Amino acid sequence: MSDIVITTLNARYIHSAFGLRYLYANMGELQRRTVLLEFGIQQRPLEIVEKLLARQPRIIGFGVYIWNVAEVGAIAAILKQVAPQIVLVVGGPEVSHPPDLPAWAELADYIVTGYGEVSFPDLCRQLLTGKEPPAKIIAGQTVALQNLASPYPYYSDTDIRQRIVYVEASRGCPFKCEFCLSSLDLTAKPFALEAFLTSMAELHRRGARNFKFIDRTFNLKTDTSVAILEFFLERLSSDLYLHFEVIPDNLPERLQAAIVRFPPGVLQFEIGVQSFDPAVQQLISRRQDNEKTKANLAWLRQHSHAHIHADLIAGLPGDTLANFGNSFDALVALQPQEIQVGILKRLRGAPINRHTRAFDLRYDPNPPYALLSSSTFSFAEMQRIGRFARFWDLVGNSGRFAHTLPLILGDRPFARFMQFSEYLYALSGSTWQIALKRLFELTYQVMIGPMQLDRTSALACLYEDFRLNGEKGVPNFLAAATAPSTAKAVAANKRQKQSVHVEYGGR
Ligand code: SF4
Repeated sequence: MSDIVITTLNARYIHSAFGLRYLYANMGELQRRTVLLEFGIQQRPLEIVEKLLARQPRIIGFGVYIWNVAEVGAIAAILKQVAPQIVLVVGGPEVSHPPDLPAWAELADYIVTGYGEVSFPDLCRQLLTGKEPPAKIIAGQTVALQNLASPYPYYSDTDIRQRIVYVEASRGCPFKCEFCLSSLDLTAKPFALEAFLTSMAELHRRGARNFKFIDRTFNLKTDTSVAILEFFLERLSSDLYLHFEVIPDNLPERLQAAIVRFPPGVLQFEIGVQSFDPAVQQLISRRQDNEKTKANLAWLRQHSHAHIHADLIAGLPGDTLANFGNSFDALVALQPQEIQVGILKRLRGAPINRHTRAFDLRYDPNPPYALLSSSTFSFAEMQRIGRFARFWDLVGNSGRFAHTLPLILGDRPFARFMQFSEYLYALSGSTWQIALKRLFELTYQVMIGPMQLDRTSALACLYEDFRLNGEKGVPNFLAAATAPSTAKAVAANKRQKQSVHVEYGGR
């Protein structure tokens, strides 16, 4: 039995709820009356309700995010039917910007907006001592970071063995990109470095090797970034994996010098580019030096072993499909191992919502609230770019088509892959549940059919890719690709690939 349950639904088992561990760490004297329960969005709401009620709580606190807002709503509705006496408290980004709240938020007894580490335990104290809290909506108090209790001891040994360990060396972001909730922060504040590294050392001693930094701008302060990289350089091992979000136009020499010392497979950099168009950047208040961004991405690919996951957003105000294609082509030329084509989403509270009327931004009312159309993107175009993004993941980002992809992209990557994506969709009728062998076969049909690519080269590249994927049982259409002609065509394709500077598929 626990008086207080703090809980959330994660998108996948490998994700651990970092925010809940912060709450739990800061419950003070109420910690012994609190239990932290995590679920997955795949679980049935009734099953989750049963597990929550088994703890016989007086208060349940939910973390509500874009990936679980619908599921939490369903659970709240059931809870209010079967256990209306339990006080339901919600917090998290999806409920932090009243009056812009999900419809089901009226079921909640209390809503804590913003950070909850101080305000949630305070609310629980009031509720458990019979005091009436002053209002339903409570603005979460911010507190000096050094006054927060550390969440890291609350990663269990199982978490450390099986899941991503989220950590943060700083909180907030000084930039103002309007599509992003971090733009509401006034600045980035660092945690005390020594204490942070002591926590990292303890996690590492306990076996943690998969660290995901949630800092919005890891490379903001060079001294700190270098100190953190040095810390991990002293602990290099073949299973170490570090993920950082970095801003693309700040890579001073000292940082470069640390980055080049990492072997392959350790560093993963998530780099938001979003758009290379200065007019779009200005509309969304994104300050980005495009030339420095390009130079830094090129440097990273040429001189480091970091895996680059670069982000673009389709549907930004003022952007068009053709113009987005220019950003995509510019990014392809820089050869990051992955390009994530994201669709603009309506985040509650994000400043970009000021453009909704001027650009007629229409969003899906259901989470994750993706853009459906705007004055510069038709619904049909958004559908096309959505399919492009999905097939790009399967064929471009997956690394499964490393030899074949340059043939598809040619010297006009966006236009050619859009063509490929449309033909592929016409054949498959779906962007989901396409088995790998079938994907190879459909890709072949599109290449030699409507795209009119050379049959021998297509067969050779697909054969090589299929072989490297380690799949058993060569599909019939590939059986025709004999080894000698394959080798010749693959070599020819490699020469072509070099001439158009397109290389994909680092896995
Ligand atoms: S997109 Fe990145 S740089 Fe821009 S406000 Fe958000 S976190 Fe900061």
